[in-house]
Amino acid sequence: MTALADLIRVLDGAYPPALAEPWDSVGLVCGDPAEELTRVLFAVDATAAVVEEAIDWRAQALVVHHPLLLRGVDTVAASTPKGALVHRLIRSGCALFTAHTNADSAAPGVSDALAAALGLTVTGPLDAKPESAVDSWVIQVPRTHTDAVLAALFAAGAGRQVNHCDCAVRVPATAQFRPMTEGSPGQETLGELQYAEEERVEVAAPSSARSAVLAALRAAHPGEDPVYHIGERAQLPSSLGLGRVGTLPEPESLRAFTDRVARALPSTAWGVRAAGDPDRAVYTVAVCGGAGDSYLSRATALGVDAYVTSDLRHHPVDEHLRKGGPALVDAAHWATEFPWCAQAEAVVRTALPGLETRVSTLRTDPWTVRATG
Ligand SMILES: [Zn+2]
Repeated sequence: MTALADLIRVLDGAYPPALAEPWDSVGLVCGDPAEELTRVLFAVDATAAVVEEAIDWRAQALVVHHPLLLRGVDTVAASTPKGALVHRLIRSGCALFTAHTNADSAAPGVSDALAAALGLTVTGPLDAKPESAVDSWVIQVPRTHTDAVLAALFAAGAGRQVNHCDCAVRVPATAQFRPMTEGSPGQETLGELQYAEEERVEVAAPSSARSAVLAALRAAHPGEDPVYHIGERAQLPSSLGLGRVGTLPEPESLRAFTDRVARALPSTAWGVRAAGDPDRAVYTVAVCGGAGDSYLSRATALGVDAYVTSDLRHHPVDEHLRKGGPALVDAAHWATEFPWCAQAEAVVRTALPGLETRVSTLRTDPWTVRATG
């Protein structure tokens, strides 16, 4: 039996909640992780129409990108629009799960799906997130106490990797010392060189757990003054973060590139429009699914030819172009994130092949009319 808990595990693995922005709300909104799951619907927004589609199709889970409930929620009364949806979902046995800014920063994530739809070869994130800092601990332990010391370090947060716990390297070591003062260990052989069977233990731990690991080491190590050193691991370039930068197969005009974006994304009343010289050559491109106006200067600093995002406004765009920034391509917010639905569906389909999955084709872009005059 596949349970909702299995879906949560798979989605949290692909889009780790720790990557979400601090203000965001991601994960399970409603639903019982223990309940059986056979059908999952994917969409950008949990609108009333999408919720109806999920229920009509008898899905037990609806996975969306945008949080239904974010800040300041103090009621889910059925007399409120969002509360009514929560009631409808719970009464119909359909869970709601959100992967928002965690799906934006994951690799692959929302902007990878957008870049792939546009035919870009991705070279990295637009705004890379630093990988979380890791300490490397090297500790000298009497062989009789290695297991106990390691158990204490693991309990304090050391030795965890993506798919493993209790990870350590143990190297046999021989310590030597010469007792020099009365009352010290081995004083009966004062002045004579002594040897002790030890192990050199190496474990990794998040830098945030440094105090806890040190306290655990001091409590579990039999020596009064344990020998250890801590190294900070070098931060490697991260593939995680918001937006993506990539290249087209060949340079093309901004006019042709704008057509490419329009063909690649589902059509909307909003459409696709570009700012900049229509004949400007476009080869390197930055993309950011959703509202990416806060990365205009970042796209300029990277020297790309064009930046594709949504929700752009007159004055920031005007200022940006005056400063010689890349051409801007503005598409409907929903359309830039829609390619992610198929990516998330593929993640779930691969990990849980017994499930029936489907991407909603309902257009949840709020703009409905376009008049060309
Ligand atoms: Zn969005």
